[in-house]
Amino acid sequence: MTGDASLDNGSPLIVGAGPAGCMAAIMLGRARAMPTLIDRDENVGDALCGGFLSWRSAEQLRAIGVELAELGAHRVNRLALYAGKTQATADLPATGFGLSRHALDSKMRSLAVASGARLEIDRIRSLAPHVARGERQDWHSGSIFLAAGKHDVRGQARPRQAADPALGLRIRIPSHTDLSRLLDGKIELHLFDGGYAGIVLQEDGSANICLALRKSLLADAGGNPRTLLDRMAADHPHFAARLCFADADLPMDSIGAVPYGWIAQETSPGLFRLGDQAAVIPSLAGEGMSIALTSGAMAARHWQQAGAASAPDYQRAMAHAARRPVGIAKLIWQTAEDARFSAPLVRMASIAPWLTNMAMRASRITG
Ligand SMILES: Cc1cc2nc3c(=O)[nH]c(=O)nc-3n(C[C@H](O)[C@H](O)[C@H](O)COP(=O)(O)OP(=O)(O)OC[C@H]3O[C@@H](n4cnc5c(N)ncnc54)[C@H](O)[C@@H]3O)c2cc1C
Repeated sequence: MTGDASLDNGSPLIVGAGPAGCMAAIMLGRARAMPTLIDRDENVGDALCGGFLSWRSAEQLRAIGVELAELGAHRVNRLALYAGKTQATADLPATGFGLSRHALDSKMRSLAVASGARLEIDRIRSLAPHVARGERQDWHSGSIFLAAGKHDVRGQARPRQAADPALGLRIRIPSHTDLSRLLDGKIELHLFDGGYAGIVLQEDGSANICLALRKSLLADAGGNPRTLLDRMAADHPHFAARLCFADADLPMDSIGAVPYGWIAQETSPGLFRLGDQAAVIPSLAGEGMSIALTSGAMAARHWQQAGAASAPDYQRAMAHAARRPVGIAKLIWQTAEDARFSAPLVRMASIAPWLTNMAMRASRITG
């Protein structure tokens, strides 16, 4: 640690420049609140994610001037579900998009700066009331917006989960004509015993394969993700037909212990929890980024109306808005990852696509 900074005029400090933090920075910057946005990474990476933006996310982004089609995002109009040999499709309620996190986060970060936010690079090690302690320096502010996403910060860590937590894995298959033909216009969910894989095309034509799985499955595969994928492909022909385009040496990203279903019920004055630090919706719903954007906008509105003291009211309002979508997504996820129920679930979806449509609508956040 090399220094100490107090922000002027009680201006807000935002920790994390993902979708939640950038949304708050854009709103607060446009309101001339002179926010400071801190991220640990100078170069925008490509966060582990399914790379699917729901129609709700698209609406929220359009409202702040981000047109996903202009970023080259792949249009997605159908959901395809697979369990073993069983399959079903349903139309999405409105157009969603496939876009890499690199493309989205780069756009959001530059818009935050253009809106008046000051971007600083520092890794925040811990949080205490009114201070974020970074590797570079301590940052003092009466209003801290915690938007560190998947990564907990000491002093405000989310509770640890059950014995067999969910972990995320991701591979990106370079553009291939035959694979693009299979995936065109669709978001695919392949259900396995103990998890699922989501597959969607990205803006550069690559296919993003993102899995959320119980940790024990990886342990059973000797800790080798590729062995795990090959085992899944052996039992699931539709998944195998996609995985065969992935060279064995493709790099794989991973993230551990995702606290699906957790919602922050309270906070202290001056600390606003955003995005995954506010509510973690099971990722098969494809609504995490919409929750992040909603929380960023909602927290900024509360701050503008009543300042730092409004944090507890904001957190309660956010918890209320997240309860239904997170609850429904958790129920679907728990059913879908159980081998006894996944095939009947997909069969039911093929008979009654309107049910799938209803579930997709019910797992969206409003607010
Ligand atoms: C397997 C999986 C698949 C998913 N698929 C989808 C999907 O297809 N669609 C969807 O809508 N959602 C999906 N999600 C959820 C989505 O990724 C998250 O809900 C969303 O990224 C949350 O945004 P955020 O801004 O809160 O955090 P993040 O996107 O995690 O961003 C956090 C930011 O904070 C920075 N940061 C972290 N720690 C620090 C620190 N200590 N100091 C400074 N900066 C820090 C990071 O560099 C990053 O820029 C998925 C999640 C998982 C686990």
